[in-house]
Amino acid sequence: MDLALLDKTLAAGGQPKYRAGQIWDWLAGGVRGYHEMSNLPAGLREQLALEVPFSTLELVTEATAKDGTVKALFRTHDGHPVEAVLMRYKDGRRSICVSSQSGCPLTCTFCATGQMRFGRNLTPWEIVDQALHFRRKEAINHCVFMGMGEPLLNLDNVLAAIERLPDIGITHRRTSISTVGWLPNLTRFIDEVEIPIRLALSLHAPDTATRNKLMPVNEKYPLEAVLAECHRYSVLRKRRVYIEYVMLSGVNDRPDQGKALAKLLGREHFKVNLIPYNPTGGQFDGSSRERIAAFLAELERGGVPTTVRLTRGRDIQAACGQLAAERAPAA
Ligand code: SAH
Repeated sequence: MDLALLDKTLAAGGQPKYRAGQIWDWLAGGVRGYHEMSNLPAGLREQLALEVPFSTLELVTEATAKDGTVKALFRTHDGHPVEAVLMRYKDGRRSICVSSQSGCPLTCTFCATGQMRFGRNLTPWEIVDQALHFRRKEAINHCVFMGMGEPLLNLDNVLAAIERLPDIGITHRRTSISTVGWLPNLTRFIDEVEIPIRLALSLHAPDTATRNKLMPVNEKYPLEAVLAECHRYSVLRKRRVYIEYVMLSGVNDRPDQGKALAKLLGREHFKVNLIPYNPTGGQFDGSSRERIAAFLAELERGGVPTTVRLTRGRDIQAACGQLAAERAPAA
């Protein structure tokens, strides 16, 4: 729901100040429509239903994988695709993966979103509405900005959305922003943002030549400079930065690259998450289990805490940008 439009509409109707808070409480608790907001006058409920859309996003399709992962594709009022995913884990964790932009202006060569046309930044409400969509199904408690888009290119709206998440059940400590390392806003994020959001960096290569090939942004903001900033964040916040590393067969998965990565990161400030590649029909294949295990062993030998990401929702194309890209062919 566009809460700015809501405020304006309530003010124009001469409603008492506490109304907006009442409505937000209902939304954050997962109601499905104005009709469920039983402490609002009936006339106001009817007026709001006509004047303030209940969600800024329209659901286009939704699919549930065998492992319980739910992937939703939405459309903004001006027709831009937005994807979000709900991941359900056995330990009770309910993690949502949300988009910060429709499409992405970066052009990472292995990423489905990177091959799509960039649409625009999402508003705070379009981000919050992704969370509310899943909140209407069940309680949720973690959020990662690993859907479409680069959160640091839409930092103000992302932060405005994050401010609302604790009411929905997601504390700041359980909220992660994932970035390619867009340096100016990474610096701003470190210097200006005081809430304890977790930082994840998409690194994907231990050296310049390989990273340039995968992530053209590396030519603008080289990995050494980006890692130095992440190191600063880790020292300042006393919290490890997650390093995302997507495993691409024959590209970045050699044991010597694992060794180089361990040396680059050191033992103290980072934690690596190796990501099995979700093929997108492009030029890359995912690494085999054996290759991932050998790479993992190199990192462990170097003393770097490392996990291998569980693959979720593969049968519903849950990788970044896959659903939207399928519907709207590349530009
Ligand atoms: N722009 C941000 C956030 C979006 S992508 C960033 O790049 O960090 C979230 C993560 O998913 C990134 O680490 C990205 O590299 C990874 N990713 C993208 N496409 C993927 C795919 N097909 N399979 C596995 N991981 C993928």
